[in-house]
Amino acid sequence: MADPTGFLDHERVEQPKRPRDERARDWREVYADLDPEERNRQVRVQATRCMDCGIPFCHSGGAGCPLGNLIPEWNDLVRRGEWEQASERLHATNNFPEFTGKLCPAPCESACVLAISPASGGAVAIKRVEETIASQAWESGYARPERAAAATGKKVAVVGSGPAGLAAAQQLTRAGHEVTVFERDDRLGGLLRYGIPEFKMEKKVLDRRLAQLREEGTTFVTGCEVGVDLTVEELRERYDAVVLAVGALRGRDDTATPGRELAGVHLAMDYLVPANRFCEGDGPAEIDAAGRHVVIIGGGDTGADCYGTATRQGALSVTQLDQYPQPPSTRDDDRSPWPTWPYLLRTYPVHEERGERLFAVAVKRFLGDEEGRVRGIELQKVRVEKDPGTGRRQVVPTSEEVEEVPADLVLLAIGFEGVEHMRLLDDLGLKLTGRGTLSCGTDWQTDAPGVFVCGDAHRGASLIVWAIAEGRSAAHAVDSCLTGSSDLPAPVHPT
Ligand code: SF4
Repeated sequence: MADPTGFLDHERVEQPKRPRDERARDWREVYADLDPEERNRQVRVQATRCMDCGIPFCHSGGAGCPLGNLIPEWNDLVRRGEWEQASERLHATNNFPEFTGKLCPAPCESACVLAISPASGGAVAIKRVEETIASQAWESGYARPERAAAATGKKVAVVGSGPAGLAAAQQLTRAGHEVTVFERDDRLGGLLRYGIPEFKMEKKVLDRRLAQLREEGTTFVTGCEVGVDLTVEELRERYDAVVLAVGALRGRDDTATPGRELAGVHLAMDYLVPANRFCEGDGPAEIDAAGRHVVIIGGGDTGADCYGTATRQGALSVTQLDQYPQPPSTRDDDRSPWPTWPYLLRTYPVHEERGERLFAVAVKRFLGDEEGRVRGIELQKVRVEKDPGTGRRQVVPTSEEVEEVPADLVLLAIGFEGVEHMRLLDDLGLKLTGRGTLSCGTDWQTDAPGVFVCGDAHRGASLIVWAIAEGRSAAHAVDSCLTGSSDLPAPVHPT
């Protein structure tokens, strides 16, 4: 039984970070390495704040956790110091809680009943509890490989090794299928490997989970582009089902702004991938922010990843631009209806380190030097509104005044347009939707029989928690298709 008044006795306390000057100079995770005993003591106090609500909004797929994480249950187990049981309940709904604990923006916390009023001291620190359960599980050996009780004799190919592909692969392997994951890159993990910077999640965390999947029986093939290195005919011949988890990595560009063609203006992923490869030991990054004035266009997660990376590479200045006005940072001055996510200001640890953020601004044009390199940008104050005729979003200048800002490296982090072009899709006869994604029926099956889809490739660029939820749900559908029924969970349905 939870302590219903625990939140009155204890304040929410954020996870302690390393000193900002120290962490801004290295690539290690930003959070402090607490002694596990002290870490667990602090987190037990945080879990005590959970009221075990009759209707736990944190847990529901509507506003809270898409995975249906059993948050009140494991909060209470942590409160009582029952770490192994807490790990069992956490892993019952989430294959990779250490990934979500480090990377998810936590819709569960915004949906928490205690987030309604600042007087309650803020949401339960669910993410921190989740990550600590996962850390404790690895440290104590609770995160064991789970081998299937019996083999089904069916073979499944998973294309893509990001979070959706890995979740689908683990579920299907544990259900007894022979699963092979194909990755076109030289290393596994997709965005987890080459999109997420080391300071947000050290890659040893990913490698540890990959080792678990291998021990359970999942096979991995890297450096293989399905459709090219393995034809669709070969794929069809060798596998009973195929899961497409190829992501939605086609970056949105800004070709309409004059000067886009200047050297030094790049898409965010063209910058982040080599920077992450550097951390893997692949040598200097091709695009380096050292000694440069860096301007990042786009106020989201990818922009923040560029921001922290540029800081660590030694940029002279880092500025992040957002077209939207600065949102309120607390519910005190927020007038939107509860739950508020994502309307409050999201500040990442990298924003505390250095640099600045500018809101309600847009680039009028990129300025170049005589050699065709970007040297600055012209900024204008704007507002974002809906075009009354088309209903589409439009950006309107609110002033004729223009401010010039120095910039010799500009990174476009303005979103993703969908699945990249790949021969595999052509050869399967699959077409992209108007949103650049792959559609499917209610059973996650695409128009190509026996070919399923999940994650960003289906949903469009989204949160890691949705990728895992879709991977788990697609695994249920594949298992049902291959065996006639499935005991695997299906936390979400196709959109
Ligand atoms: Fe606990 Fe908040 Fe979930 Fe209620 S909504 S059960 S207080 S975490």
